[in-house]
Amino acid sequence: MIEKSLYHGAKNNDLTQMNSALLLDILRKRGVCSRVELAKETGLTQAGITKLVSSLIEQQILKETGILSQNERGRKSIGLQLNDELGKVVSICFSRTFIKIAIFDINGRVYNNITVQLGHFKTLDDAMLHVLDLVKEYVVAFPDIKAIGIALPGPYLRQSRQITVADSSFNWFAFRPQEILEENLNLPVYPIHDADAAVLSYRWRNDVDSYKTLTYMLLGEGVGAGIVIDGKLFEGSFGTAAEIGHMSIDVKGIPCSCGNRGCLERYCSTSAIVEKAKRVLNRHPDSGLNQYKELTYYDIFNEFDKMDPLATSIINEACEYIGYGVVNLINAYNPDLIVLGNIMCRSGVVLLNKVNEVVHERIIPEIADKVEIRMEPQESDSILYGCAMNSVDYIISNALSSNS
Ligand SMILES: [Zn+2]
Repeated sequence: MIEKSLYHGAKNNDLTQMNSALLLDILRKRGVCSRVELAKETGLTQAGITKLVSSLIEQQILKETGILSQNERGRKSIGLQLNDELGKVVSICFSRTFIKIAIFDINGRVYNNITVQLGHFKTLDDAMLHVLDLVKEYVVAFPDIKAIGIALPGPYLRQSRQITVADSSFNWFAFRPQEILEENLNLPVYPIHDADAAVLSYRWRNDVDSYKTLTYMLLGEGVGAGIVIDGKLFEGSFGTAAEIGHMSIDVKGIPCSCGNRGCLERYCSTSAIVEKAKRVLNRHPDSGLNQYKELTYYDIFNEFDKMDPLATSIINEACEYIGYGVVNLINAYNPDLIVLGNIMCRSGVVLLNKVNEVVHERIIPEIADKVEIRMEPQESDSILYGCAMNSVDYIISNALSSNS
């Protein structure tokens, strides 16, 4: 049970820290818990939990929330939750066409949420100056902000802090959002790859600890995956594990700016469906897609809802390619749960059905029957939430280690 913990500060050889981390991880998921519930979930003794909880309350990491229930003998059950007074975090999610910014408290409540379109700016640094001004305003309005989390599109090279996004008009490789924030604000900045933030968010918000290998497939402007194995995020040696968007599904296929050909995201991302529509539109003069001046994926989904034949065919094909991606994911990582998330989930049940169909066609039944495939609603704020809670982990870890 103990290895379920994802807290950055939990040292493997420090049992108290590991137990604290496990307990905090459960509180993150449940929100409010009693000591009895914590003992049951952690497998620790009641006495052990009482001691641990007292220590965490003393360190101001936990707080009591009041009476949850009272048994027939008059014994009261008191609720516990993470202490909001530990502060708030700013979560910034960078994508190829927009930046989302939100403020979260320690318990995951959102206080502010805005989107900045990159199309309004000439360079990423110009957009970043605007973001910096907004964050400065937030820091004044919320003086208890303790950290900033940044979720970055991949492939993201962890050590050199470089974002190597393919297929974008902006120079992501030279973009250094962490440095800009650190130089201008007196706050720690914690970067995370966007798909990793999404998989952590899913794990924190859903009861999935019984799954050994949880995989989240991020299907947005690009395609990527986040993987949690035995409760631990799997990032690979340089932080670019599971960049499934650049796994070739056709060695002679469409060239990709990563240098490969036939990369998955060139067939089933939102950018890919727009490109495909533009490529074939002149052969379909009756399609409803012709009415849009600057065709976007919104328009394609809009026409898909109206059952426009071209939009339907484009979405169906993209869903089939996502299925091929899932097949590769299963063969590479042997997951027992795959979650499909982000913008392409706008395809709804068509996506889920097509992926299941392709998986059962192409994966041996003994494995295919054991993999559960789910879909997260398209409007989920997984990346922002996961990025925020990743920063919260650092705040708690720092509090734990400064008190130990
Ligand atoms: Zn590629």
